Amino acid sequence: MTPVPGHEAIDEMHAVTVARLLVEPTPETTRVYYAKLLEAQNHSGVVVRYIDSSIGKGVFATKNYDVDELVLKEHMLVGAQHSQNKADAFVCSFCFRFIGSIELQIGRRLLSAENEGRELSVEGKEGYLGPTSSCCHDSKAAKCLEKDGEYIRGLSSDAAEALLNSSLRLPFTELFTFSPVISCMGGCEDEFYCSEVCAKAAWDSHHSLLCTGPGSLCKDKDSLVKFIDHANESNDIFLVAAKVVSSTLLKALKLKQAEFSSHLPTTYSAEDSTRELLQAWQPFSMGFKRLWWNSVALPPDLGPNDEVDFRNQLKELASQSLKLLKGAIFHAEYAALFSLQVYGHIIGMFELNNLDLVVASPVEDYFIYIDELPMVQKMEAETITRPLLDALGDDYNTPCQGTAFFPIQSCLNHSCLPNMKAFKRDEDTDGQAVLLATRQIQVGEELTISYIDEDASWEERKAMLEDYGFLCDCQKCAEKS
Ligand SMILES: [Zn+2]
Ligand SMILES: [Zn+2]
Ligand SMILES: [Zn+2]
Repeated sequence: MTPVPGHEAIDEMHAVTVARLLVEPTPETTRVYYAKLLEAQNHSGVVVRYIDSSIGKGVFATKNYDVDELVLKEHMLVGAQHSQNKADAFVCSFCFRFIGSIELQIGRRLLSAENEGRELSVEGKEGYLGPTSSCCHDSKAAKCLEKDGEYIRGLSSDAAEALLNSSLRLPFTELFTFSPVISCMGGCEDEFYCSEVCAKAAWDSHHSLLCTGPGSLCKDKDSLVKFIDHANESNDIFLVAAKVVSSTLLKALKLKQAEFSSHLPTTYSAEDSTRELLQAWQPFSMGFKRLWWNSVALPPDLGPNDEVDFRNQLKELASQSLKLLKGAIFHAEYAALFSLQVYGHIIGMFELNNLDLVVASPVEDYFIYIDELPMVQKMEAETITRPLLDALGDDYNTPCQGTAFFPIQSCLNHSCLPNMKAFKRDEDTDGQAVLLATRQIQVGEELTISYIDEDASWEERKAMLEDYGFLCDCQKCAEKS
């Protein structure tokens, strides 16, 4: 195996390509890119325009919108669920739709609570769930809390396991339809999907290089596992950054393959591979970027004297992460992609843009449904569901949460009086960004969202927006209200 070059060697040898990757696209390149993207996604109601060098680009309405009307719905380029959210929300790793069943969602959460040592049994409710005669239900979905002829006394890990292996069914869950659970093509047990289509799309776009299963195409699985552990222990934004690197690399390799099938390989030069890399990178070149360790706001408990140390620590963390990632998927032909400068800017892009991924939990709908049943049915169902709800605690309805890069949404500028809001309607059950008008919008108006809690005081808003690196000059801020 050829040795992987160190960060300095890459930054030195590939300085020109690194600079080309990080250069801000021209207004004309930006205009053409977004016009094509909007056309491909059938978004005729908005346009992305370059405003000026201090603001950069913005999104504008090309038609009138009514209050609550859908303005934009778009797929992410890359995204990932937060590591600590995985036990609370079992979702497709590609489209972030909830998968499996209500039983599976609840069972996984109970099991993870138990693994974390949280108390599961509902105090003073031993035997609350039995006997059969009090909880038997006509519906075939409700087989009572009976497992191997024994009643579950209180809520133990048996209940969680019974939910996970389908020996325990809850009442009325048949009314809540889920996509099945599809395993990863590479055989890892970290990622699951809602369909073969999502499994294949994830594999082709980034996962084939980042899979820890036997079918993985990564060069060194040991390094990959260490990279994932390091990210989970330090900052899971590294996992999203790795998807950006991996998807760019796979796309460049695909472009090369296409090139080779149309040309004779003898015509291939270093400039050709740079061109492929730049083309594969283009969607990410559009995102607003700064070096992560230079742009993160100093935590409030640190003084100005700590700043140098703080920034060095962040840089060291990114450097360790990239070293492990390089060990796993480095590709000499596209070495510039593995520059610490590029990696730092990718992480900074996620830090500086408002790119939350949220999908509401169907478990909440389920408990609401039970709560709204006619009294007799409700009481009967609750003999089973109430102890579960108690054991799940206040966070029973935790949504899927993560970080994602949405190319058009990331162009939206901030206002403390925004004319749009991110809002998932009942039909929006996957990870797409959905933006609705908060008031009437006229053709030609700039579309805005709030990056922060716009109801906070002017002082608080000012402080929060400093993290994004700008001062807001909206009407509300001008009035300091
Ligand atoms: Zn899916
Ligand atoms: Zn996998
Ligand atoms: Zn403002």
